[in-house]
Amino acid sequence: MSNVTRNFFLFLSQNKALNNSAKKWGLRLGASKVVAGVTIEEAMTSIQTLNQSGLKATVDHLGEFVTEANEAEEARKACIEIIEAIHSQQIDSQISVKLTKLGLDISPDLCMDNMRSILDAAKDTGNFINIDMEDYARYQATLDILFELRNTYDNVGTVLQSYLYRGMEDLDDLKGIPLRIVKGAYKENEDVAMQTKEAIDANFLRMIQKHLLNGGYTAIATHDHHIIENVKTFTTDNEIPKDQFEFQMLYGFRHELQLALAKEGYTFRTYVPFGKDWYGYFMRRLAERPQNVAFAVRGMLSK
Ligand SMILES: Cc1cc2nc3c(=O)[nH]c(=O)nc-3n(C[C@H](O)[C@H](O)[C@H](O)COP(=O)(O)OP(=O)(O)OC[C@H]3O[C@@H](n4cnc5c(N)ncnc54)[C@H](O)[C@@H]3O)c2cc1C
Repeated sequence: MSNVTRNFFLFLSQNKALNNSAKKWGLRLGASKVVAGVTIEEAMTSIQTLNQSGLKATVDHLGEFVTEANEAEEARKACIEIIEAIHSQQIDSQISVKLTKLGLDISPDLCMDNMRSILDAAKDTGNFINIDMEDYARYQATLDILFELRNTYDNVGTVLQSYLYRGMEDLDDLKGIPLRIVKGAYKENEDVAMQTKEAIDANFLRMIQKHLLNGGYTAIATHDHHIIENVKTFTTDNEIPKDQFEFQMLYGFRHELQLALAKEGYTFRTYVPFGKDWYGYFMRRLAERPQNVAFAVRGMLSK
């Protein structure tokens, strides 16, 4: 996809008025192909189906960039409800959270309190919380919160993005912490982030290999079969056990490949987003791939 189109969808992803309208629309524009429903019940049903075919999950209650404390409180409560639903229905799923949804932009202390409450609930049921990485403006704040939480909790990890120049160096401070490594989904300035696919892909492999060799649990989150094949060869050649890493992809993407990897004996985890706040997430997916735009257009026409 050209940079112009990518930037256009990334620009739309940040449009607050459209985001607010989308909450009232329900899933539209083909979003239901990549968003597993609006309610917790719908998400749990989708995950049960994935579990039955050998896929684990990490569930994300969609939403980000919250500016009111009561919205952050709602998000905290919803997260705990999800943790309880996973436990009571014996579903194989972790939870992914975004700190801006839990109040990071309002106050880091509020966000930290919300995270502690969520992590206590997760600990009680033996679950794990992964903190998604958002845009660069929140990067250091996210790492600071993670480091603070890791003093008390071992059931929390985060994400590093290979488009950031500092990613390789940050891995040194994150030794021993479970990490998801991704290419990166936001529009970032060239001062902080690589801009070409070649550079981002090469750094992606370097970061994955470094964290694996450091002995850290590594989730390789990508739809890119070249990267996946490379990781398979690297882990075999370096005798890295299959229980030290997993592959992850997003719900609705390359489902056959997800199943094939699980069948080969790799741990596979599908990232399952749900909720009425689907707009920003969906626009970022449209920015990534022209085929996604095609199914959005089909979705629009079929409504
Ligand atoms: C589980 C998960 C969690 C994520 N969490 C975060 C996060 O916390 N923060 C963040 O910034 N980003 C996150 N991302 C998004 C990520 O940063 C990328 O923007 C996104 O994954 C697109 O990059 P890619 O590695 O999948 O491959 P791309 O660079 O998009 O694609 C590379 C190649 O893979 C093939 N390919 C890709 N998609 C398909 C497809 N659908 N069908 C067929 N072939 C395909 C094509 O050959 C394509 O050229 C996450 C992604 C995943 C999968």
